[in-house]
Amino acid sequence: MTENPFFEPSTLGYELPPFAEIRDEHYLPAYERGMAEQLAEIAAITADPEPPTFANTLVALERSGALLRRVDAVFRNQVASDTSDAVDEVDAKVSPLLAAHHDAIHLDRALFARIEELYGRRAELGLDPESLRLLERRHTAFVRSGARLGAAEQARLRELNAELAALGTTFQQNVNAATKAAALVLDSADDLDGLSADAIAAAAENARVLGHDEGTYVLSLKNTSGQPELALLTDRSVRERLLAASLGRARDTNGPLAIRMAALRAERARLLGHPTHAAYVVADETAGTVEAVAGLLARLVEPAVANAHREAAELAEVAAADGIDEIAAHDWAYYSEKVRQGSYRVDAAALRPYFELERVLHDGVFHAAGLAYGLTFTERPDLTAYHPDARVFEVFEEDGGALGLFIGDFHARASKRGGAWMDELVGQSALTGRRPVVMNNLNIARPAPGEPVLLTWDEVRTLFHEFGHALHGLFSDVRYPLFAGTAVPRDFVEFPSQVNEMWMIRPEVLANYARHHVTGEPLPAGLVERMAAAGGFGQGFRTVEYLAATLLDWAWHTVPEGRGIADAEEFEARVLAEAGIAVPAIPPRYRTAYFQHIFANGYSAGYYAYIWSEVLDADTVQWFEGNGRSVRESGEVFRRELLARGFSRDPLDSFREVVGRSPETGPLLARRGLA
Ligand SMILES: [Zn+2]
Repeated sequence: MTENPFFEPSTLGYELPPFAEIRDEHYLPAYERGMAEQLAEIAAITADPEPPTFANTLVALERSGALLRRVDAVFRNQVASDTSDAVDEVDAKVSPLLAAHHDAIHLDRALFARIEELYGRRAELGLDPESLRLLERRHTAFVRSGARLGAAEQARLRELNAELAALGTTFQQNVNAATKAAALVLDSADDLDGLSADAIAAAAENARVLGHDEGTYVLSLKNTSGQPELALLTDRSVRERLLAASLGRARDTNGPLAIRMAALRAERARLLGHPTHAAYVVADETAGTVEAVAGLLARLVEPAVANAHREAAELAEVAAADGIDEIAAHDWAYYSEKVRQGSYRVDAAALRPYFELERVLHDGVFHAAGLAYGLTFTERPDLTAYHPDARVFEVFEEDGGALGLFIGDFHARASKRGGAWMDELVGQSALTGRRPVVMNNLNIARPAPGEPVLLTWDEVRTLFHEFGHALHGLFSDVRYPLFAGTAVPRDFVEFPSQVNEMWMIRPEVLANYARHHVTGEPLPAGLVERMAAAGGFGQGFRTVEYLAATLLDWAWHTVPEGRGIADAEEFEARVLAEAGIAVPAIPPRYRTAYFQHIFANGYSAGYYAYIWSEVLDADTVQWFEGNGRSVRESGEVFRRELLARGFSRDPLDSFREVVGRSPETGPLLARRGLA
């Protein structure tokens, strides 16, 4: 092998990784050297004969691990958005190594002794607020990672972390494989009756790409239990097969893994001095205590279920005309669509021609960022990203100054995991002089060749949502890498992204992007008002499916250690019933076996974060609308006091700086029809 492109910092603008030179075989050696380098840097810190200072310990720690950071950012993205057997193999090797590396640093007694010593004298060190916070946060991270435990406990902790890391990787790989395998293959276009002509063509194209026989159609599965086609397929038996395929994913492989992971997490929490994994997790979130989370969830369950029952009665009326006397889970979306078309005269399929991807992106998402923050965007086809689908945009401030790079990778492909997310290739930091390079990944189906990319209402929302995370990364203006952009608690991080969804329906934004892709006509008059009226319908379903998944996550992670769970599905059914959220026709948004958020992606005991963040979101949207400032001025305040701060100060303090008081739940309850 010639030179490994990770060994030196990238010389490209914004330190964009040199993707054209990166090969799979570069990853493992770069990880190995990156970990060794960081351990050597830490050995140099602890070997320093000088007494510990903020500069020779904390700042040195912040600067350490540059190579590891470079390779890890690129590799994590490769695993998520363009994986392969070779990449999966590296992932399986690297995950336990990284867990061990994290422990090697956080259980290093000499290093912790220096931090502890500085922490004890923190008031006398004359630190600026962000530096003081760095010392406090690092100290907390070390304590939470077991720095104060005895040798035997630390040895057990290392074992637990290594096994959990390996299991998490296996869980994710099982979901990927099972989701691919469960795609529904249909032999006749008749089976797809109800889908639009372009959706049927896309299913045929999907069959071709996946190597199925000529004349077949393939519906690939989205991450969630519900599948978008369920709203449209007229053949009840096809709907039933599609939902069954979705709900049954990875049941055999991942059920036992979930049981094992829950037990290991509970044991680790006990070692670290917390009664349950959930208690351990929320202690470091803005929620603070399990009681705070459980209290909010409990308050929502009953009204949400009552809402869902009201919606079910409306659906049953329409379904009766088709001779269906009980709404099954595979009927819910279909008859919801009928109710929307009938009572509200809103047809989801008729909207799509008004949501063409390029228009939504440039005239909607980017346009809104222009209105609120003065940003402009220039596509840079000369810059190579990690896949031909991934497009690079340079982002500029109102005064023309360069802000960072935004990479948009919008289409589904077999090598990409499901869902949508934001990630960072380069984090902003004044200490390192780096500007941000951020990414958005979506899973929009590729249309048949030559056809435009028309989005669903949900996909438009997702585009705005993920871009809210991107702005959080782009606007980051902190000194230390630890605090950059989205490095805030999980129960806060969904807040800025949810706020960004509001632009989707702001009249001045909607009118700018929602135009017919052929005629250029705006949305038909009255449709927007009808959509707003219809928006309340379906909140019962959406809140119940979300709360069911949240309470499932909560149950897995409040199980005291050692309480035996014999069967994951039986446990799931029992806890949903006990929580009062078991509505047979509304499956949880994710079932245990494909709940990647909590078993693979860092949201364990954290799925509540979405609704927790939505409290802040609904409150902030109200502030945007009623504070008397212009959109541009409001955007500036939101950017300066909240987005730019990252985790460099308490996020709830940032919220209070913007809104002028602590968060209140009223706006959320009203929005969700739960007041
Ligand atoms: Zn999000």
